[in-house]
Order: sequence, then structure tokens, then C-alpha cells
Amino acid sequence: MLALIVELSGFAAALLFILGLKRMSSPATALRGIVLAGIGMLVAVVASFGYLAMASEAARAHLAVNLGLALLALALGIGWAWRSARTVAMTAMPQMVALYNGMGGGAAAALAAVALVDTHPEGRLALGVTVLGALIGAVSLAGSVIAWAKLDERMRSAWRFRGQGAFNALVLLATLLLGLWLVADAAAPGWGIALFFAGALAFGVLMTLPIGGADMPVVISLYNAFTGLAVALEGYALQNPALMIAGMVVGSAGTLLTVLMAKAMNRSLANVLFSRFGEVKAGAQGEVHGQMKAADAADAAVTMRYAGSVIIVPGYGLAVAQAQAKLYEFVKLLQAAGVDVKFAIHPVAGRMPGHMNVLLAEAGVPYDLIFDMDDINESFASTDVALVIGANDVVNPAARTDKQSPIYGMPILNADQAHQVYVIKRGQGKGYAGVENLLFYGDNCSMVYGDALAVLNTMVQSIKELGA
Ligand code: NDP
Repeated sequence: MLALIVELSGFAAALLFILGLKRMSSPATALRGIVLAGIGMLVAVVASFGYLAMASEAARAHLAVNLGLALLALALGIGWAWRSARTVAMTAMPQMVALYNGMGGGAAAALAAVALVDTHPEGRLALGVTVLGALIGAVSLAGSVIAWAKLDERMRSAWRFRGQGAFNALVLLATLLLGLWLVADAAAPGWGIALFFAGALAFGVLMTLPIGGADMPVVISLYNAFTGLAVALEGYALQNPALMIAGMVVGSAGTLLTVLMAKAMNRSLANVLFSRFGEVKAGAQGEVHGQMKAADAADAAVTMRYAGSVIIVPGYGLAVAQAQAKLYEFVKLLQAAGVDVKFAIHPVAGRMPGHMNVLLAEAGVPYDLIFDMDDINESFASTDVALVIGANDVVNPAARTDKQSPIYGMPILNADQAHQVYVIKRGQGKGYAGVENLLFYGDNCSMVYGDALAVLNTMVQSIKELGA
């Protein structure tokens, strides 16, 4: 009976993960999707105890001894995650995602370590799968921690040294050879296992060190895929279907997201991992002509009030200023005056995939006003005003023309093609990629300097003062 309940729970958890993921594909159903996947995770965790109880006499003995410790670990993990998820700033979300990815990879590697040191999987296939999961999990753990440190500005964006590629390849090769040894010799000594894990962790660090700047989101998503794969492999080694399915779902979703993000930046994955994109070399930028022109917030607001169409391009600065609710208030005033208002979302605007969608949803902006880059880019040329709020790299025309620019090739929003462009930002600060923005120097562009919230406050006030 227990066996049937446990098997069915594994199946139910898998079903809940898949249904949850499907619902996450639309903002309207995403919240329910997250709840469903969360319930699936709860079922999977409870079922894992059942799997252990059924696995073998030795596993039951372990469970009896360690149940208290396992429950304590669960309580600590849930408490910490609950607290940090509630208090994390929206702008620090990518760091948090990086840490969680890393923990998933670390958990898979820890499972493999216990298997290699203690329970000794039987047969070459089981050993091979365990060792491969250990390698991928450990790389994901170490790489994600470095990604977290970079995003949290605790370490320099990109660390490079001469011969780095060759050195990294050597570390990987040595780790792979150690892994092969562990597969070939089930009785390999403990120091061999320790050396293998040290190599895998070192490779994770080394692989992430040289990657910097705008490539970090793609790397985090790649480690997400790695973690899923490692968990699926360890699930196979432990013959735990819930782990296998959860791992495969995370692995394939992570892979898809990685490919889509790389595509959004017009890059290949190999180019992200091994080229020096994200590095701003001295003199690497093309020349900038013209001057930035300042405009008054009230004047800009009045121009938009009498325009026929406005496209708003939100970016990272909107999230920093937490001005999304004020922005929507401004939009409603424009709509009431008969202006056609739309939002244009770049796939990597902000600091995480979907960052701007979440921000606008928070403010209650209807989904039918929000357009993805491919669906709206052609409309800029026939639009009266493009209002860029706290966005920079995602509207930088240098990405189209300047082969020296670190963002060359990244598709951008065509804000520069609108008849008039207003840019709200605090000053001369650069974007994430650290380069000048040619848009700001265009004849049709005016800068409205100030914190996005303060500027939008003034804009709302100005429109209200105009009356109906
Ligand atoms: P950027 O980071 O390029 O630019 C943000 C701009 O906002 C800055 O120029 C800054 O200028 C301005 N700003 C900051 N604070 C405020 C404020 N309080 N009020 C008004 N303006 C403010 O943002 P984008 O969204 O255009 O581009 C995202 C970049 O981040 C891309 O390069 C992308 O590759 C990268 N990235 C994306 C991730 C993702 O998954 N979406 C994850 C990690 C990186 P000033 O200081 O003058 O105010």
C-alpha cells in the first residue's frame, strides 16, 4: 500500500510541476502556476521520505537515525527561504535566483558524494550517472556562487588572465580523468573522490570568472539548466522518479530560456561562454556626435498629453525608482485624454527575464497594453513619442552599427525611430554594459533628468493641472 501511495505521489508531483510550468507561460495564470508547482514540490519532498522507507533495510536505518536532522534542515531551509524571498528587493532577484540554482546543483552534488563515499552505486551505468551528476552539480554550485557575487557587486565583473582558456581546459580535463577513474574503480580511495569534487568546483569558478557584464543573465539561466540535469541524473541513480522528472523539467526549461536569451542578444551560447563580450575596452567605442539636450518634465508631459501615440520603454531605472504605480497613473491620464499608449518590453530589460512584466503587473497595467520587442518594434517609426524610463542599453542604436561596442549585435527597441524621444534618467550614468548611448545624442531626443518617481510625479501633476 505504501509503495502505491509513494508511486502515485511521485506521479502527482510530476503532473503538478508540468501543469504549473504551463500556467507560468502567461502573466494572467502565472501566480496559480507557481502555487501548483509549489504544491508539487511539497508532495515530492514528503514522497522522498516514503521512497527512503521503501528503498532498503540500510536506507530505513539511515532514515530512523537521521529523520530529526532532515526535518531540522527542512525547517531551516524553509524559514530562510521564506524570509529572504519576502524581503528581497525586486532589483536583487537575479542574485537570489543564482543562489537558489547553486543550491540545487550543490544538493545534487552532495547526493552524489554520499553515494560515492557511502552507498556505492552498483554497476558502471549507475556509477557513471552519479559521477556525471556530481560533476555538473558541483560546477553549477561554484559557478552560481560566483555569478551571485558578481551580480551583488561583491566582486569584479570579469576576471581574466593570460592563458585562461588553456588553463580552464586543463582543469576540466583533469577533473574528467578523475571522474573516469571513479567510474572504472568503484573502490577508488576517498582522496580521489575529494580531488574530483575539488576539480569540479574549481572548474565552476574558473568558467564563470571571465564572463561579465551583460552576459550574466544567460549564464545564470545556463546554470539553472545544469542544476536540472544534475538533479535528473541523481534522481536516476537513486531511482527516484519525482527527482528525475523535476530535474528534467528544470533542465529543459533552463535550456530553453538560455537559448531564448542568447537569441535575444543575438549571440550563440559558445560566444557567451568563451568570447570577451561584456568587456568594455578603452577606446572600444565609436565616436559620439552631438550633445544631450535637457527638457523640462512638465513640457514633456504636455507634449505627450497632446500626442496621438506614445510608446513607453521601461528599464532597470524604473525598478530602482519603484515608480511603476506612478507610471500607470500617468498612463491612465494620457489614455483619458485620448492618447494611444503602449509598453514595449525588451527581453533583457531590467535585471532578470520578465523583470519589466512583473513590475508592470505589480502596478496593475493591463496585459493587452504590453508588447514584446518583435511585436512592437516596427510601430516606433509611426509613433509620436517614445518615452524611455530608466532604460539604456536596450535602446542603444550602437548595438546596430558600432562593431566595437560590447553590445554590438544585440537586437534593440527602435525608440530612436519615434518622432520625438524623451528619456527619464538621473544624470549621465551609463547602462549595464557601461557604454555611451547614441540615442541620447540624437536630434529627436531630449533628456528629462531626475529620479523616475520624482519626474513622473511632476508629469502627473502637470497633466492634472491642464484639466480635461
Ligand atoms: P540599463 O542598466 O542599461 O540602464 C539603466 C538606466 O537607468 C541607467 O542608465 C541609469 O542612468 C538609469 N537609472 C538608474 N536608477 C534610476 C532612477 N532611480 N531613476 C531614473 N533612472 C535611473 O537598463 P536596461 O533595462 O536598458 O538594460 C538592461 C541591461 O541589463 C542590459 O545590458 C542587459 O543585458 C543587462 N542585464 C539583464 C538581465 C535580465 O535578465 N534582464 C540580468 C542582468 C543584466 P542614471 O544613473 O543616469 O540614472
